[in-house]
Amino acid sequence: MTSRGCPQTCTFCCRSMGQRIRARSADNVLAEIEHLVRDYRIDEIYFEDDNFTVDRERALAILRGIRDNFPALFIKFANGLRADRVDGEILSAIREAGGYWIGFGVESGSQRVLTLMKKRLDLDKVRKNVSRAK
Ligand code: SF4
Repeated sequence: MTSRGCPQTCTFCCRSMGQRIRARSADNVLAEIEHLVRDYRIDEIYFEDDNFTVDRERALAILRGIRDNFPALFIKFANGLRADRVDGEILSAIREAGGYWIGFGVESGSQRVLTLMKKRLDLDKVRKNVSRAK
């Protein structure tokens, strides 16, 4: 967990960490990864943030730090990234950091249902970013 909270208001979500974002700095996260790699020889990190890319610059700093300092590490976001909170640069950074798995929290293929659930996700953008990720 590199951050807690999500500012969105999807009606089905427990938002157990609250709506206010409390994020660790990139340096703090990278120091923990260094500790885990050095002392426990881990080879993979599974990120479980509610909304890892809500702060794009922080996410890029973490991903680039992993790429530059831990080239043998694998990472995954099976917990789900918002499909409208990624772009080509973020996806490339994930790949370069050893990313091999991204789960997008899409929830429904119906724009009407997404609106009813207050997911505020544009399915055209989802299609575009899934294609980019692939
Ligand atoms: S974007 Fe994800 S974490 Fe945030 S409220 Fe919606 S489902 Fe929950």
